[in-house]
Amino acid sequence: MIPLFQASHRDHRWWEAWARWMRADLAHPSDFLRRLALGWAGGTIALGVIGLVCYKLGLDAVAAESIFLIAIVLISLVGSFTMSIGLCIVAVLYIDFFFIKPTLTFDIQYKQDIPALLTFSIASLAITGLVRHVRMLGETQIEQARLLDLTHDTVIVRDMDGVILFWNFGAEEMYGWRKREAIGKIIHTLLKTRFPVSLDDATDTLLRTGRWEGELIHTRCDGTELVIASRWSLQRNGNGRALATLETGNDVTARKQAEQALRRSQATYLAEAQRLSRTGSFGWNVWSGEVVWSEQTFRIFEFDPHVVPTLELVLQRVHPEDVERFRNTIGDASTHKQDFDFEFRLVLPDGAIKYLHVVAHVMKDEPERLHYAGAVMDVTEARQAEQQLHHAQSELARVTRVTTLGELSASIAHEVGQPLAAIVTSGEACLRWLERQPPEPDEVRAGVMRMVGEGRRATEIVRRIRTLARKDTGQKVPLGLNDVVNDVISLTQREVLSHQVPLRVRLAPLLPPVLGDRVQLQQVLINLVMNGIQAMDGVTGWARELSIETGLTPDGNVRLTVRDCGTGIDPHHAERLFDAFFSTKPHGMGMGLSICRSIIDSHGGKIKVFNNEAHGATFQCVLPPLAKEAA
Ligand code: ADP
Repeated sequence: MIPLFQASHRDHRWWEAWARWMRADLAHPSDFLRRLALGWAGGTIALGVIGLVCYKLGLDAVAAESIFLIAIVLISLVGSFTMSIGLCIVAVLYIDFFFIKPTLTFDIQYKQDIPALLTFSIASLAITGLVRHVRMLGETQIEQARLLDLTHDTVIVRDMDGVILFWNFGAEEMYGWRKREAIGKIIHTLLKTRFPVSLDDATDTLLRTGRWEGELIHTRCDGTELVIASRWSLQRNGNGRALATLETGNDVTARKQAEQALRRSQATYLAEAQRLSRTGSFGWNVWSGEVVWSEQTFRIFEFDPHVVPTLELVLQRVHPEDVERFRNTIGDASTHKQDFDFEFRLVLPDGAIKYLHVVAHVMKDEPERLHYAGAVMDVTEARQAEQQLHHAQSELARVTRVTTLGELSASIAHEVGQPLAAIVTSGEACLRWLERQPPEPDEVRAGVMRMVGEGRRATEIVRRIRTLARKDTGQKVPLGLNDVVNDVISLTQREVLSHQVPLRVRLAPLLPPVLGDRVQLQQVLINLVMNGIQAMDGVTGWARELSIETGLTPDGNVRLTVRDCGTGIDPHHAERLFDAFFSTKPHGMGMGLSICRSIIDSHGGKIKVFNNEAHGATFQCVLPPLAKEAA
């Protein structure tokens, strides 16, 4: 039997009060003795009365012994152990006095009465001891039950059919049903239990391991739902048969609500931060194909939040030119179980373009079930700003080119004027040859051929100038750097001559082509040539010369060098030379070198400057050859 059940069924109040009174307080011996004397005197009188009545009724010794035994059992039930033993001895004396011959004396006439008296003594003492043992057991059970009532946790015992056998004060407080209302009811019906797993699974675990714990939802008698952290322990008898389940539980409703509120507020902050940073998050289970998006990701892709996100859905919006790259990048990454990080464009239903940057990290904790966690950033504004900047830069470059053309106007006029003058001269000669008698057609043909040649030369010069003034510069194409140099020489030759600067050109034969924008590279060279000429303007103390050279660097790059014998670079200015708007010239814009550097950078090359040993400065541009670029 399980002690707890017994304790719960009985109403022990009078019993407890009497037992408490009878249990002498050993800390106060006088109190103990007083109670012992009182009980003993009362018992002695009661037993004396019983003896006298039995004597008067003429009962024999055996009948009287039975009655005395009953009296001793009753006294043992309510009295202390010490007093009960004392009264056993008193009972033996009474039996001897009233019923053992000669009666009304304590003498014993027949020896055979002695065993009978001894038997009574032993029986009464044994009963007293037994009653004491049972009483102590009962008191322990009461104590245990009282302790279980002290805890705030619920303590419930139910049998294997779920019938409630014990229901502590904590359970009364928690659920609102009194003991008498709950005991005998089926627990999960009474509390409308909702389980995190099925009841069968929980019972299975309980029977296998002897324990189960989990969070249950119970309903109070007023209908309120509570989240209870519940722990079950199985009680078995000596044969191992399951007898009952002890359920203890505590209310975690407030904690759960606080956790939920925290989770909700964290989710709100996260969603707001994602909205502000235009960054959505996603999860992609490659194994199952399942895709999970945050609110912001739906917003970025401009899909309804109720749509189930899939990779195919994303592909519907990917820019047609980016679809293949998108598929390849994601396909390669998932095949090799690698992270991915790339940019692609979306075309939205209204035709708008969005630039997205996606980064994803492969979760390697479950190698069989590959999945990614990632972020997708809307970088449209940044890309648009970059495009605008690029546009502004090329516009500025064009303006400076046109400005340079203005500075070169004398040279250009001379360049165009020369073939025109030659055409006029040849035309006049042709007329003269035609007027001769007889006319000289061969001379005329030669003259016309010269005119055509000069006309072509003039057209070519005009074409170059128009190209330089054009708004959009052409695409990068394979071109020889020597050709670029020749183009620029023809445009600047006159300028060089008018400043009386000897020009030395040394072009390396068999120079590998570079991938370049002809106009932009011409602009670089024109800037360097014009700066060189200007740097030598006031120089009189030493020989002046401008040299343009092409060649190969030891590591196979193509090199363009412009060397002057001017004033050289002031070391204080060296750091800022390539900065925009840095100029030491009274009417300088300070954009020339800055544009040169951005052009050379965009060609994958480098531009540097150093002072010559004797006089002047050298600007050197190094560009990768086409073969290297392609590799
Ligand atoms: P700008 O010619 O309008 O001043 P640049 O960017 O072309 O703008 O040149 C910036 C400055 O670099 C010039 O003002 C000048 O001080 C210096 N510089 C450029 N080229 C040379 C050179 N060959 N020799 C000496 N100084 C130079």
